Amino acid sequence: FDDISPSAQIEYDRLLGGLLIEGFDERSCRSRYQFARYHKSERIPSPYLIERLRRQEALQKKCGPGTKAYSSAAEQLRSSQSINSTTDCNYVFLIIHAGLGNRMLEVTSAFLYALLTDRVLLVDRYKEIGDIFCEPFPGTSWLIPSDFPLSYDEFTMSSPESYGNMLQNNVIGGNMYRSLAGVKPPYVYLHLDGNYGFHDKLFYCEDDQQFLKGVPWLIIRTDMYFVPSLFLIPSYQEELSKLFPEKDTVFHHLARYLFHPTNDIWYSVTKYYRAYLAKADKIVGIQIRIYEHKGILQRNGPFPHILEQILSCSQKEKLLPEIGGTDEAATAAGKNRTIAVLATSLSSWYGDEIRKRYSQHQTVDGTTVKVYQPSHEEYQKSRNRKHNMKALAEIYLLSMTDVLITSGFSTFGYAAQGLAGLTPWIMYRSRNHAVPNPVCGRAMSIEPCFHQAPFYDCKAKRDTDLGKVVPYVRHCEDVSWGLKIV
Ligand code: GDP
Repeated sequence: FDDISPSAQIEYDRLLGGLLIEGFDERSCRSRYQFARYHKSERIPSPYLIERLRRQEALQKKCGPGTKAYSSAAEQLRSSQSINSTTDCNYVFLIIHAGLGNRMLEVTSAFLYALLTDRVLLVDRYKEIGDIFCEPFPGTSWLIPSDFPLSYDEFTMSSPESYGNMLQNNVIGGNMYRSLAGVKPPYVYLHLDGNYGFHDKLFYCEDDQQFLKGVPWLIIRTDMYFVPSLFLIPSYQEELSKLFPEKDTVFHHLARYLFHPTNDIWYSVTKYYRAYLAKADKIVGIQIRIYEHKGILQRNGPFPHILEQILSCSQKEKLLPEIGGTDEAATAAGKNRTIAVLATSLSSWYGDEIRKRYSQHQTVDGTTVKVYQPSHEEYQKSRNRKHNMKALAEIYLLSMTDVLITSGFSTFGYAAQGLAGLTPWIMYRSRNHAVPNPVCGRAMSIEPCFHQAPFYDCKAKRDTDLGKVVPYVRHCEDVSWGLKIV
């Protein structure tokens, strides 16, 4: 680590303020104790969060795969009989899907939900999670065993065992589970995907949370960061404020606790960082994600209006120097600084164009700007291992920058800003191939946005604006109907 400044080498706290514990094998997962060397966080986890993480680790170990408790819980699923006794070992099982940014948001949401409801978190073993992330909990695995009895991949919005459908078909609240108070189904499937319906969304209501309490298995499918809505459920509010006295640090702390890239990904991250970024005076991350397209062929452009948006945002906000200086002016400014730009995008065009501008022209203050882009995959390929490894490496590289410019709407950017603890400048979404006005704006907080948030007031039983109920849950900057913690 010769190329990292001496102060950074001495000051880093490998356990991230107590989020992590000693005792894991360092060699099999280098990133776990090394991440701290590459980013500086000013946010300190609360002693209560740390205590709860330790309790959760004990629960994961006591009830996890391979234990007697797990076998009997899985056995209950096989017999599919109603449950009328309680146990210490209840589970949240997360079905994983979607792109990497989304996955990190969904795992974090499910973990916080598990923490709040004293459940064990287990995740889908078939979606490369084990390839790209190390195990987060000591002495146990978070991957669901391969002999898990339910074919969960078949669960969809229309499955009869979904909570929404059970409500709608009066299985719950109607005959069976109301008349037999305390009797619960062995499992409930919670469909919390972006396409969910009214009854599915009742998951976010107090009474429904009370019902779900004694259900041994909750199987969740989601592609979103549903944490903001947990902050609106009365019975979780006190616990959440104890866990997170600084409310906007949920993703920052939990993601740094949960996610540790596997060695080959970590090796490529640290190698790239040291080769291109470490020596710069400032590192500016620019995450470019494009949702517009022209016909089927031009998915990621090249779109000149997006290039203009990136340059205009970075120069107006003084994140990058303007171009057009003369040699004399540069010498007079007396600056001999280097800025490294880390550009990430599926397309190489934007990074190439920014590089061209800065290599062909002087900057007004004499700063040298160098542009690096680790990959350009052209298309999103969610089920390709190498592709996902590159994507995760880039999320981590972005999290090691000093300043972050992200594309609105993108969970890829949310994951990077959250890991970093950086409040990004968000480039607003362009429409009709025109540069939006304003081009970008500073985010309110480092938290991700919950895109398809519910807008139902459970108590009043009518729709309402949930972005106005408490001061710390507001509408997102980039998704006007979404919710985020500020
Ligand atoms: P979102 O769709 O922007 O919300 O982000 P996701 O991460 O959920 O899904 C996008 C997927 O596209 C990523 O997981 C990557 O597979 C790919 N992708 C998008 N942008 C980039 C990028 O800048 N670099 C790389 N390597 N992959 C990207």
